[in-house]
Amino acid sequence: MKIIRARTAGFCMGVSLALRKLDREVTENNAPIATLGPIIHNPQVMAHYEERGVRCLRDTTQVAPGQRVVIRAHGIPVAEETALKATGASVVDATCPKVKRAQLGIAEERGRGSTLLLFGEADHPEVRGLLSYAGEGAMVFGSLDELKRLPLRDDVDYFLAAQTTQDRAGFEDVVAWLRQRLGRDIPVLQTICDATRKRQQEAVDIARRVQAMVVVGGFDSGNTRRLADVARAQGVFTVHVETVDQLPVDELRKKSVIGLTAGASTPKSLIDAVQRFLESL
Ligand code: SF4
Repeated sequence: MKIIRARTAGFCMGVSLALRKLDREVTENNAPIATLGPIIHNPQVMAHYEERGVRCLRDTTQVAPGQRVVIRAHGIPVAEETALKATGASVVDATCPKVKRAQLGIAEERGRGSTLLLFGEADHPEVRGLLSYAGEGAMVFGSLDELKRLPLRDDVDYFLAAQTTQDRAGFEDVVAWLRQRLGRDIPVLQTICDATRKRQQEAVDIARRVQAMVVVGGFDSGNTRRLADVARAQGVFTVHVETVDQLPVDELRKKSVIGLTAGASTPKSLIDAVQRFLESL
């Protein structure tokens, strides 16, 4: 079995940075450590930290006295950060610098009196955080069709931004449609992360050369799900798994060339395990 593994598979800068911060807290501090929500969207990574005594808090009411709390890589809403600081916990901000830049860019545009249109998944933690910087009137949409159904007004100054892990081609379609619909240019914040674009591009390139694609990463990970989507869109049989035991072995055994990639929150050890298994088929 020939395996073509994406060079971009696995941790991005923001995830590596967040986990380095959490590792430092675990090894250098005696205080109990917690993360506010999953630090990244990968259950195997979360289990690893849980074994090392790191608690994952649902919200700020669960913060214990004296706890050190690490803010997740996706960032959190302004009100949650304020509530967190009010608990007296020592806060370590592991928000990805690119998400932070998107938050601040949105706040700046909002300061000019414009209203945000955000291309993203409404129920994603990063999106909830971004929206909190946008003030009243902001609207979120997950596709061009959803955008077309929004009650846009001609007397409102809009600006556009995207969740960092959104599909770049889809965003360009959104920009083009909005220009036409509003009959004018509007400010567009370039918030889509390069890590996402490179992973998606490489997934497309590989998907065109193989008989099946395997995408490894958390089922809750938006960027991993979209990697599987872009591979599938090339018409190739694509599976998204979190761990090696979830592979559809009978189906994959029939293929001779398989592409392998992974989301930005997938540890190398999980990708290696899948690669070793596929090579053994
Ligand atoms: S994908 Fe980009 S924005 Fe998201 S955590 Fe990684 S580097 Fe940051």
